[in-house]
Amino acid sequence: MPEGHSVHRIARQFATNFVGHRVTVSSPQGRFAEGAARIDGQVMTAAKAVGKQMFLEFENGLWLRIHLGIYGAWDFAGEISVDPTIASANGRMGQTNQRGTDADAARVFDDAGENSLHSIGAPRRTRLRMAESEKLEAEITSFPPEPVGQVRVRLLTDTAVADLRGPTACEVLDPAEVDAVIAKLGPDPMLDDGPEAEERFVSTVRRKPTSIALLLMDQSVVSGIGNVYRAELLFRARQNPHTPGKQVPEDTVRELWHDWVKLLRIGVATGQMMTMDDLDDESYRKAMASRDDRHWVYKREGLPCRVCGTHIVMEELGGRKLYWCPKDQA
Ligand SMILES: [Zn+2]
Repeated sequence: MPEGHSVHRIARQFATNFVGHRVTVSSPQGRFAEGAARIDGQVMTAAKAVGKQMFLEFENGLWLRIHLGIYGAWDFAGEISVDPTIASANGRMGQTNQRGTDADAARVFDDAGENSLHSIGAPRRTRLRMAESEKLEAEITSFPPEPVGQVRVRLLTDTAVADLRGPTACEVLDPAEVDAVIAKLGPDPMLDDGPEAEERFVSTVRRKPTSIALLLMDQSVVSGIGNVYRAELLFRARQNPHTPGKQVPEDTVRELWHDWVKLLRIGVATGQMMTMDDLDDESYRKAMASRDDRHWVYKREGLPCRVCGTHIVMEELGGRKLYWCPKDQA
């Protein structure tokens, strides 16, 4: 399932290429025909993400709310912006010529440090899939391309098209309904990383008898964290996942918040859930290229811990897989 950084990047894609444009809205599959009619022909006026949900505003005051869930994905095509790091990561897989890759990776590192929101490159006439990961696909030959498969909603401007498939939620809301949805969500550091958001997170966690591992995934406690970030944040804090929230030391809860602020920014800037620090250039490039090289514990069950050598453990918790080091996180 896409974690918060992906949804922020998708919202950014809409902000760059759709906001300010008049949008023809349709439901090629038919399931969303009624909702589409309510926003069809309107200018998109805003695009924002809160945690794992995205909200697109139209000039008539209505909003389109999207939650991708496990299977949802957006396909963009036309004159759309492509993050050069994503372009190079995808290009790298099928190409023998890797020139330029090093410079790209180094620049990403800078961008990440500066929390750059400008890493999406110049518009190209192409096709880009954005979901849990981002995949640059074949260049398009005609515009707009025919909808493929079960497209719930198609958003079309003169220059760009976005097709949505398989979302958990896709609905039109009025402003009061949007406020009600957002009010139920925990703080999202991309929207507010100040002391108020931190206090909200800390006080909620320290009231709850629920394990910290479950609390981090609870979107009413904190927004945007999914399975990968959960496991990595807990390892980075050397925190036992099963400790009830109210028994986790306050300093550790604050550390978890600050670390989420940091990791989410890196994720939004690079498009990768990079959770390792202090890598040398070569290790950084390896880690950006391969998920196996950029996590401490996620999907490393049975492998030796990178710090202590103990085998990483995987267990089921609340129906999701949890990865941790029983020694470092004792
Ligand atoms: Zn360990």
